[in-house]
Amino acid sequence: MPEMPDERLARLGFVRSRLVRHSAEADEATVPPSGAEDGLHAAFCADKVLVAGGSALLAPRNRDRAGRAAVEIFLGRLDGRPVFAAEIDPAEAPRLADEPAFRCVDLRGLAVEGSLEPHELGLLATARSLLQWHARHGFCANCGSPSLVRAGGFRRECPTCGAHHFPRVDPVVIMLIRRGDACLLGRAPRFPEGMYSCLAGFLEPGETIEDAVRRETYEETRIRIGAVSYLASQPWPFPSSLMIGCVAEALDETIVPDPTELADARWFPREEVAAMLGRRHGAGISAPQPMAIAHALMRAFVDGQA
Ligand SMILES: [Zn+2]
Repeated sequence: MPEMPDERLARLGFVRSRLVRHSAEADEATVPPSGAEDGLHAAFCADKVLVAGGSALLAPRNRDRAGRAAVEIFLGRLDGRPVFAAEIDPAEAPRLADEPAFRCVDLRGLAVEGSLEPHELGLLATARSLLQWHARHGFCANCGSPSLVRAGGFRRECPTCGAHHFPRVDPVVIMLIRRGDACLLGRAPRFPEGMYSCLAGFLEPGETIEDAVRRETYEETRIRIGAVSYLASQPWPFPSSLMIGCVAEALDETIVPDPTELADARWFPREEVAAMLGRRHGAGISAPQPMAIAHALMRAFVDGQA
């Protein structure tokens, strides 16, 4: 299987993390207190990340300044120091927006900006996905009772029926579809004006990655797919997807876009894709940001590596 060179992965958001996850520490007794002196804290408020002094890993002093947490969990360790993630009470949002110690930025914006150390984005992806899962899974899916945070936030348990619930990851296939010297890109109605990207879709239960690529492509464009190969993956914490980047060989040429999914879909020659990535396309057609895996797939195609 071809693998994407490291320098391309380096530009992707959320793919680097130095967090040593604590999931193996099943015992409640091994979860450190969130007030630990050497603790590092990722804090979100009303879906904004709190950044202080160019880092989203807050010292205890700044964590305290952020205010009361609706949920606080233990993520693991970084260089031996315990790392926590907090969902700050949204009522604090107006005060925090005016707090000079913090810059409040949404996570997608932070990834586009590229101002943080790349490994912090990976850690923030873990934090956001877990916090969002806790926010949406307050009740047992088995019996409907309120469930409790356990193992520092690694799972939830139901005190009524005893069921254990674990955070989920939703796999998504995203594919660079090529035919000769051109690739198939589409634009969803919600995309920014002029932007085209790779087709993508959620895997369904009982489906292989290859079959999901074939099904999604056929549903959206009526193009049949032959060979499929894996290139790279990217955690996408909105709220908890894993983007599985593939290259697929088209067997057909005539595109019939599904109007509910796509406003348009076309074949783009290699040099046009290069112009899109370089933001110099004559008709103003653009590609997703370098932090997104679609950009990396398109770059690999332009460079002849896909
Ligand atoms: Zn239950």
